[in-house]
Amino acid sequence: MMKPLSPKPGTAWSPKADQSFLHMSDLILKNIRKAYGHVTAVENANLTFESGKLTALLGPSGCGKTTLLRMIAGLEMPTSGDIILGGENIASKSAEQRKFGMVFQSFALFPHLNVARNVSYSLRIAGVDATTRRAKAQELLELVQLGDKGQRKIGQLSGGQRQRVAIARALAQEPEVFLLDEPMSALDAQLRGDLQMQLRLLQQKLGITTIVVTHDQREAMTMADQIVVMSHGRIEQIGTPQEIYHKPANSFVANFIGNANLLDGIATATGIRVGGTEIAVSDRGSFAAGQAVTLFCRPEAVALHDTEIPNSVPGTVTFVRDEGPAREIHLDTPAGHMTAEIPGSFEATVKIGDRFHAELPDGLLHLLPERSHDDEEAA
Ligand code: ATP
Repeated sequence: MMKPLSPKPGTAWSPKADQSFLHMSDLILKNIRKAYGHVTAVENANLTFESGKLTALLGPSGCGKTTLLRMIAGLEMPTSGDIILGGENIASKSAEQRKFGMVFQSFALFPHLNVARNVSYSLRIAGVDATTRRAKAQELLELVQLGDKGQRKIGQLSGGQRQRVAIARALAQEPEVFLLDEPMSALDAQLRGDLQMQLRLLQQKLGITTIVVTHDQREAMTMADQIVVMSHGRIEQIGTPQEIYHKPANSFVANFIGNANLLDGIATATGIRVGGTEIAVSDRGSFAAGQAVTLFCRPEAVALHDTEIPNSVPGTVTFVRDEGPAREIHLDTPAGHMTAEIPGSFEATVKIGDRFHAELPDGLLHLLPERSHDDEEAA
Protein backbone atom coordinates (compact mmCIF):
# COMPACT_ATOMS: atom_id res chain seq x y z
CA MET A 1 0.00 0.00 0.00
CA MET A 2 1.35 3.38 -0.92
CA LYS A 3 1.32 5.94 1.84
CA PRO A 4 0.37 9.59 1.26
CA LEU A 5 3.12 12.18 1.29
CA SER A 6 2.87 13.77 4.69
CA PRO A 7 6.07 15.50 5.73
CA LYS A 8 6.05 16.71 9.31
CA PRO A 9 5.75 20.50 9.65
CA GLY A 10 9.09 22.13 10.21
CA THR A 11 11.23 19.43 8.55
CA ALA A 12 13.73 20.69 6.00
CA TRP A 13 12.66 18.07 3.49
CA SER A 14 10.29 19.23 0.77
CA PRO A 15 8.28 16.59 -1.11
CA LYS A 16 7.67 18.84 -4.09
CA ALA A 17 11.31 19.66 -4.60
CA ASP A 18 12.50 16.09 -4.21
CA GLN A 19 9.85 13.65 -5.15
CA SER A 20 7.87 14.84 -8.11
CA PHE A 21 9.55 12.19 -10.30
CA LEU A 22 9.75 9.41 -7.71
CA HIS A 23 7.38 6.71 -6.52
CA MET A 24 5.79 7.62 -3.23
CA SER A 25 7.11 4.54 -1.47
CA ASP A 26 10.74 5.17 -2.39
CA LEU A 27 13.06 5.05 0.60
CA ILE A 28 15.15 8.22 0.79
CA LEU A 29 18.17 9.00 2.96
CA LYS A 30 18.83 12.70 3.53
CA ASN A 31 22.17 13.80 4.98
CA ILE A 32 22.45 10.64 7.08
CA ARG A 33 25.50 10.65 9.31
CA LYS A 34 26.67 8.30 12.04
CA ALA A 35 29.57 8.94 14.39
CA TYR A 36 30.85 6.68 17.16
CA GLY A 37 32.89 9.08 19.26
CA HIS A 38 35.68 10.27 16.95
CA VAL A 39 34.97 7.62 14.31
CA THR A 40 32.63 8.74 11.54
CA ALA A 41 31.18 5.47 10.27
CA VAL A 42 28.88 7.13 7.68
CA GLU A 43 29.31 10.65 6.33
CA ASN A 44 26.42 12.61 4.93
CA ALA A 45 24.70 9.89 2.89
CA ASN A 46 22.11 11.13 0.38
CA LEU A 47 20.50 8.40 -1.58
CA THR A 48 17.23 7.03 -2.96
CA PHE A 49 16.20 3.39 -2.91
CA GLU A 50 13.62 3.19 -5.64
CA SER A 51 10.45 1.30 -4.85
CA GLY A 52 10.62 -2.31 -6.05
CA LYS A 53 14.31 -2.19 -6.98
CA LEU A 54 17.33 -3.98 -5.55
CA THR A 55 20.22 -1.81 -4.35
CA ALA A 56 23.61 -3.22 -3.34
CA LEU A 57 25.69 -1.35 -0.75
CA LEU A 58 29.20 -2.33 -1.84
CA GLY A 59 32.58 -1.58 -0.35
CA PRO A 60 35.59 -2.94 1.53
CA SER A 61 35.55 -3.91 5.20
CA GLY A 62 34.96 -0.93 7.50
CA CYS A 63 33.53 1.39 4.79
CA GLY A 64 30.28 1.88 6.72
CA LYS A 65 27.86 -0.26 4.71
CA THR A 66 26.58 -2.31 7.67
CA THR A 67 26.14 0.82 9.76
CA LEU A 68 24.09 2.36 6.96
CA LEU A 69 21.90 -0.76 6.69
CA ARG A 70 21.43 -0.91 10.47
CA MET A 71 20.28 2.72 10.48
CA ILE A 72 17.76 1.92 7.75
CA ALA A 73 16.56 -1.08 9.81
CA GLY A 74 16.20 1.03 12.96
CA LEU A 75 18.87 -0.97 14.82
CA GLU A 76 21.12 2.13 15.03
CA MET A 77 19.95 5.72 15.38
CA PRO A 78 21.60 8.20 12.98
CA THR A 79 23.64 10.99 14.59
CA SER A 80 21.82 13.29 12.17
CA GLY A 81 19.71 13.14 9.03
CA ASP A 82 16.33 11.89 7.84
CA ILE A 83 15.07 8.54 6.56
CA ILE A 84 11.94 9.02 4.47
CA LEU A 85 9.65 6.15 3.48
CA GLY A 86 6.55 6.87 1.44
CA GLY A 87 6.81 10.54 2.39
CA GLU A 88 7.10 9.90 6.13
CA ASN A 89 10.25 10.58 8.16
CA ILE A 90 10.87 7.26 9.97
CA ALA A 91 14.31 8.14 11.40
CA SER A 92 13.09 8.10 14.99
CA LYS A 93 10.97 4.93 14.67
CA SER A 94 12.17 1.72 16.32
CA ALA A 95 13.03 -1.42 14.36
CA GLU A 96 9.75 -3.03 15.52
CA GLN A 97 7.73 -0.07 14.24
CA ARG A 98 9.46 -0.20 10.83
CA LYS A 99 8.78 -3.94 10.36
CA PHE A 100 11.40 -4.35 7.65
CA GLY A 101 12.37 -7.93 6.74
CA MET A 102 15.98 -8.71 7.63
CA VAL A 103 18.40 -11.50 6.80
CA PHE A 104 21.89 -11.61 8.26
CA GLN A 105 25.10 -13.44 7.42
CA SER A 106 24.53 -15.96 10.22
CA PHE A 107 21.43 -18.01 9.68
CA ALA A 108 19.86 -17.22 13.08
CA LEU A 109 17.11 -19.84 12.74
CA PHE A 110 15.47 -21.60 15.68
CA PRO A 111 17.02 -25.11 15.80
CA HIS A 112 14.20 -26.55 17.94
CA LEU A 113 11.49 -25.60 15.39
CA ASN A 114 11.02 -27.31 12.05
CA VAL A 115 11.44 -25.41 8.78
CA ALA A 116 7.76 -24.46 8.35
CA ARG A 117 7.50 -23.23 11.96
CA ASN A 118 10.62 -21.14 11.53
CA VAL A 119 9.04 -19.48 8.52
CA SER A 120 5.70 -18.85 10.24
CA TYR A 121 7.20 -17.78 13.57
CA SER A 122 6.54 -14.05 13.18
CA LEU A 123 2.96 -14.75 12.09
CA ARG A 124 2.40 -16.75 15.29
CA ILE A 125 3.73 -13.82 17.36
CA ALA A 126 1.40 -11.52 15.40
CA GLY A 127 -1.57 -13.73 16.38
CA VAL A 128 -2.31 -15.12 12.90
CA ASP A 129 -4.40 -18.33 13.08
CA ALA A 130 -2.76 -21.73 12.55
CA THR A 131 -4.41 -22.55 9.18
CA THR A 132 -3.38 -19.23 7.63
CA ARG A 133 0.12 -19.61 9.11
CA ARG A 134 0.58 -23.07 7.62
CA ALA A 135 -0.67 -21.95 4.20
CA LYS A 136 1.57 -18.87 4.21
CA ALA A 137 4.64 -20.87 5.30
CA GLN A 138 4.03 -23.39 2.52
CA GLU A 139 3.60 -20.62 -0.07
CA LEU A 140 6.86 -18.96 1.01
CA LEU A 141 8.76 -22.25 1.09
CA GLU A 142 7.62 -22.94 -2.45
CA LEU A 143 8.84 -19.48 -3.47
CA VAL A 144 12.33 -20.33 -2.21
CA GLN A 145 12.08 -23.84 -3.72
CA LEU A 146 11.85 -25.67 -0.40
CA GLY A 147 8.21 -26.69 -0.69
CA ASP A 148 8.98 -30.30 0.30
CA LYS A 149 11.21 -29.45 3.29
CA GLY A 150 8.67 -27.92 5.69
CA GLN A 151 8.82 -30.78 8.19
CA ARG A 152 12.61 -31.03 8.29
CA LYS A 153 14.69 -29.98 11.27
CA ILE A 154 16.98 -26.99 10.64
CA GLY A 155 20.00 -29.22 11.36
CA GLN A 156 19.02 -31.44 8.41
CA LEU A 157 19.45 -28.63 5.87
CA SER A 158 22.48 -27.46 3.89
CA GLY A 159 23.86 -23.93 4.35
CA GLY A 160 22.18 -22.68 1.17
CA GLN A 161 18.84 -24.23 2.20
CA ARG A 162 19.05 -22.63 5.65
CA GLN A 163 19.67 -19.23 4.14
CA ARG A 164 16.63 -19.71 1.89
CA VAL A 165 14.56 -20.53 5.01
CA ALA A 166 15.87 -17.29 6.57
CA ILE A 167 14.77 -15.40 3.44
CA ALA A 168 11.29 -17.02 3.52
CA ARG A 169 10.99 -16.21 7.23
CA ALA A 170 11.92 -12.56 6.67
CA LEU A 171 9.31 -12.31 3.90
CA ALA A 172 6.49 -13.82 6.03
CA GLN A 173 5.28 -10.47 7.31
CA GLU A 174 5.26 -8.97 3.81
CA PRO A 175 7.76 -6.24 4.70
CA GLU A 176 7.76 -3.03 2.70
CA VAL A 177 11.55 -3.12 2.59
CA PHE A 178 13.79 -6.21 2.63
CA LEU A 179 17.30 -5.81 4.10
CA LEU A 180 20.09 -8.37 3.74
CA ASP A 181 23.53 -8.09 5.35
CA GLU A 182 26.15 -10.25 3.58
CA PRO A 183 23.50 -12.97 3.17
CA MET A 184 25.72 -15.37 1.23
CA SER A 185 29.14 -14.90 2.77
CA ALA A 186 28.94 -18.13 4.79
CA LEU A 187 28.28 -20.18 1.64
CA ASP A 188 30.74 -21.73 -0.80
CA ALA A 189 31.23 -20.12 -4.21
CA GLN A 190 28.94 -22.46 -6.16
CA LEU A 191 26.03 -22.11 -3.72
CA ARG A 192 26.55 -18.37 -3.51
CA GLY A 193 26.28 -18.05 -7.28
CA ASP A 194 23.06 -20.13 -7.34
CA LEU A 195 21.46 -18.26 -4.45
CA GLN A 196 22.33 -14.87 -5.96
CA MET A 197 20.35 -15.77 -9.07
CA GLN A 198 17.45 -17.25 -7.07
CA LEU A 199 17.26 -14.24 -4.77
CA ARG A 200 17.30 -11.83 -7.71
CA LEU A 201 14.51 -13.72 -9.50
CA LEU A 202 12.45 -13.86 -6.28
CA GLN A 203 12.96 -10.14 -5.64
CA GLN A 204 11.85 -9.28 -9.17
CA LYS A 205 8.83 -11.57 -8.90
CA LEU A 206 7.72 -9.97 -5.62
CA GLY A 207 8.75 -6.43 -6.65
CA ILE A 208 9.96 -5.73 -3.13
CA THR A 209 12.35 -2.84 -2.37
CA THR A 210 15.54 -4.64 -1.35
CA ILE A 211 18.91 -3.53 0.01
CA VAL A 212 21.83 -5.97 0.10
CA VAL A 213 25.12 -5.28 1.87
CA THR A 214 28.08 -7.01 0.22
CA HIS A 215 31.82 -6.67 -0.23
CA ASP A 216 31.64 -8.91 -3.32
CA GLN A 217 31.50 -6.87 -6.52
CA ARG A 218 30.35 -9.87 -8.54
CA GLU A 219 27.41 -10.40 -6.17
CA ALA A 220 26.46 -6.72 -6.53
CA MET A 221 26.76 -6.85 -10.32
CA THR A 222 24.66 -10.06 -10.50
CA MET A 223 21.75 -8.88 -8.41
CA ALA A 224 21.47 -5.11 -8.31
CA ASP A 225 19.49 -2.52 -10.24
CA GLN A 226 21.57 0.10 -8.47
CA ILE A 227 25.00 -0.16 -6.81
CA VAL A 228 26.19 2.24 -4.12
CA VAL A 229 29.99 2.06 -3.80
CA MET A 230 31.29 3.20 -0.41
CA SER A 231 34.72 3.82 1.11
CA HIS A 232 35.75 5.38 4.42
CA GLY A 233 32.10 6.14 5.29
CA ARG A 234 31.57 8.09 2.05
CA ILE A 235 29.48 7.28 -1.00
CA GLU A 236 31.91 7.19 -3.93
CA GLN A 237 29.38 6.48 -6.69
CA ILE A 238 25.75 5.53 -7.23
CA GLY A 239 24.84 3.92 -10.54
CA THR A 240 23.64 0.91 -12.46
CA PRO A 241 26.08 -2.03 -12.62
CA GLN A 242 26.93 -0.96 -16.18
CA GLU A 243 27.64 2.66 -15.20
CA ILE A 244 29.78 1.60 -12.26
CA TYR A 245 31.78 -0.84 -14.39
CA HIS A 246 32.18 1.15 -17.60
CA LYS A 247 32.15 4.70 -16.23
CA PRO A 248 33.61 4.66 -12.72
CA ALA A 249 33.65 8.07 -11.07
CA ASN A 250 37.18 7.72 -9.74
CA SER A 251 40.14 5.36 -9.39
CA PHE A 252 38.81 3.82 -6.18
CA VAL A 253 35.62 2.63 -7.91
CA ALA A 254 37.56 1.57 -11.03
CA ASN A 255 39.88 -0.61 -8.92
CA PHE A 256 37.22 -1.99 -6.62
CA ILE A 257 35.00 -3.21 -9.48
CA GLY A 258 37.00 -5.64 -11.60
CA ASN A 259 40.43 -4.98 -13.06
CA ALA A 260 41.37 -1.57 -14.40
CA ASN A 261 44.25 0.06 -16.22
CA LEU A 262 44.92 3.39 -14.53
CA LEU A 263 47.64 5.44 -16.20
CA ASP A 264 48.80 8.74 -14.74
CA GLY A 265 49.25 11.60 -17.20
CA ILE A 266 48.51 15.21 -18.10
CA ALA A 267 45.24 16.29 -19.75
CA THR A 268 45.60 17.84 -23.22
CA ALA A 269 43.04 19.61 -25.41
CA THR A 270 42.12 16.29 -27.08
CA GLY A 271 42.86 13.68 -24.43
CA ILE A 272 45.89 12.80 -22.33
CA ARG A 273 49.69 12.57 -22.60
CA VAL A 274 50.94 9.37 -20.92
CA GLY A 275 54.50 8.03 -21.02
CA GLY A 276 55.45 10.46 -23.81
CA THR A 277 52.51 9.43 -26.02
CA GLU A 278 49.45 11.50 -26.88
CA ILE A 279 46.24 9.47 -26.54
CA ALA A 280 42.95 10.83 -27.92
CA VAL A 281 40.10 10.57 -25.41
CA SER A 282 36.70 11.86 -26.55
CA ASP A 283 35.17 11.33 -23.10
CA ARG A 284 37.70 13.60 -21.42
CA GLY A 285 35.33 15.25 -18.91
CA SER A 286 35.87 18.89 -18.01
CA PHE A 287 39.56 18.67 -17.09
CA ALA A 288 41.64 21.68 -18.12
CA ALA A 289 44.65 21.08 -20.38
CA GLY A 290 47.75 20.77 -18.21
CA GLN A 291 45.87 19.20 -15.27
CA ALA A 292 47.17 15.95 -13.76
CA VAL A 293 44.62 13.18 -14.49
CA THR A 294 44.33 9.40 -14.64
CA LEU A 295 43.41 7.48 -17.78
CA PHE A 296 40.98 4.59 -17.22
CA CYS A 297 40.62 1.61 -19.55
CA ARG A 298 39.36 -1.92 -18.84
CA PRO A 299 41.81 -4.72 -19.81
CA GLU A 300 39.34 -6.26 -22.27
CA ALA A 301 39.25 -2.96 -24.19
CA VAL A 302 43.02 -3.02 -24.84
CA ALA A 303 43.96 -4.48 -28.25
CA LEU A 304 47.46 -5.83 -28.96
CA HIS A 305 49.13 -5.20 -32.34
CA ASP A 306 52.47 -6.18 -33.85
CA THR A 307 52.92 -2.82 -35.57
CA GLU A 308 52.55 0.72 -34.30
CA ILE A 309 49.07 2.22 -34.73
CA PRO A 310 47.46 5.48 -33.51
CA ASN A 311 46.40 5.64 -29.83
CA SER A 312 48.84 2.95 -28.75
CA VAL A 313 51.78 2.59 -26.40
CA PRO A 314 54.66 0.11 -26.89
CA GLY A 315 54.87 -2.68 -24.31
CA THR A 316 56.85 -5.78 -23.35
CA VAL A 317 55.03 -8.82 -21.92
CA THR A 318 56.02 -9.45 -18.28
CA PHE A 319 53.49 -12.18 -17.38
CA VAL A 320 50.74 -14.24 -18.99
CA ARG A 321 47.90 -15.50 -16.80
CA ASP A 322 45.85 -18.10 -18.59
CA GLU A 323 42.40 -18.28 -17.01
CA GLY A 324 40.87 -20.63 -19.58
CA PRO A 325 38.15 -18.50 -21.19
CA ALA A 326 40.41 -15.43 -21.16
CA ARG A 327 44.12 -14.72 -21.07
CA GLU A 328 45.48 -11.77 -19.10
CA ILE A 329 48.61 -10.27 -20.63
CA HIS A 330 50.71 -8.06 -18.32
CA LEU A 331 52.79 -5.41 -20.07
CA ASP A 332 55.52 -3.03 -19.08
CA THR A 333 55.02 0.25 -21.01
CA PRO A 334 56.46 3.79 -20.81
CA ALA A 335 53.03 4.81 -19.43
CA GLY A 336 53.30 2.24 -16.61
CA HIS A 337 52.08 -1.32 -15.96
CA MET A 338 49.12 -2.38 -18.11
CA THR A 339 47.04 -5.49 -18.58
CA ALA A 340 45.21 -6.61 -21.70
CA GLU A 341 42.61 -9.35 -21.67
CA ILE A 342 42.32 -11.43 -24.81
CA PRO A 343 40.14 -14.49 -25.50
CA GLY A 344 41.68 -17.74 -24.29
CA SER A 345 42.77 -20.27 -26.88
CA PHE A 346 44.43 -23.68 -27.05
CA GLU A 347 47.52 -22.17 -28.69
CA ALA A 348 49.94 -20.45 -26.31
CA THR A 349 50.53 -17.56 -28.71
CA VAL A 350 51.86 -14.95 -26.26
CA LYS A 351 54.96 -15.34 -24.05
CA ILE A 352 57.06 -13.28 -21.66
CA GLY A 353 59.39 -10.92 -23.52
CA ASP A 354 57.11 -10.52 -26.58
CA ARG A 355 56.70 -6.91 -27.71
CA PHE A 356 53.37 -5.37 -28.75
CA HIS A 357 51.73 -2.03 -29.36
CA ALA A 358 48.85 -1.81 -26.89
CA GLU A 359 45.97 0.10 -28.45
CA LEU A 360 43.83 2.19 -26.13
CA PRO A 361 40.71 2.59 -28.29
CA ASP A 362 39.09 6.00 -28.01
CA GLY A 363 35.43 5.44 -27.08
CA LEU A 364 36.44 2.91 -24.42
CA LEU A 365 38.59 5.41 -22.51
CA HIS A 366 37.61 7.77 -19.74
CA LEU A 367 39.57 10.45 -17.87
CA LEU A 368 39.35 10.39 -14.05
CA PRO A 369 40.60 12.77 -11.38
CA GLU A 370 44.26 12.18 -10.51
CA ARG A 371 44.35 9.09 -8.30
CA SER A 372 45.41 9.27 -4.70
CA HIS A 373 47.29 6.68 -2.67
CA ASP A 374 44.22 6.41 -0.44
CA ASP A 375 42.34 4.92 -3.39
CA GLU A 376 44.88 2.16 -3.85
CA GLU A 377 45.04 1.31 -0.16
CA ALA A 378 41.26 1.10 0.18
CA ALA A 379 40.84 -0.99 -2.96
P1 ATP B 1 32.44 -5.05 7.39
O1 ATP B 1 32.24 -5.47 5.98
O2 ATP B 1 33.78 -5.41 7.93
O3 ATP B 1 31.30 -5.41 8.29
P2 ATP B 1 31.36 -2.37 7.06
O4 ATP B 1 31.64 -1.72 5.75
O5 ATP B 1 30.05 -2.99 7.20
O6 ATP B 1 32.50 -3.42 7.37
P3 ATP B 1 30.81 -0.94 9.48
O7 ATP B 1 30.62 -2.17 10.29
O8 ATP B 1 29.61 -0.18 9.10
O9 ATP B 1 31.63 -1.27 8.16
O10 ATP B 1 31.84 0.02 10.25
C1 ATP B 1 32.19 1.30 9.78
C2 ATP B 1 33.16 1.95 10.77
O11 ATP B 1 32.49 2.22 11.98
C3 ATP B 1 34.35 1.08 11.13
O12 ATP B 1 35.47 1.92 11.27
C4 ATP B 1 33.94 0.46 12.45
O13 ATP B 1 35.07 0.14 13.22
C5 ATP B 1 33.12 1.58 13.09
N1 ATP B 1 32.07 1.05 13.95
C6 ATP B 1 31.03 0.28 13.59
N2 ATP B 1 30.23 0.00 14.65
C7 ATP B 1 30.80 0.62 15.72
C8 ATP B 1 30.45 0.73 17.12
N3 ATP B 1 29.36 0.13 17.62
N4 ATP B 1 31.28 1.45 17.91
C9 ATP B 1 32.37 2.06 17.41
N5 ATP B 1 32.74 2.01 16.11
C10 ATP B 1 31.98 1.30 15.27
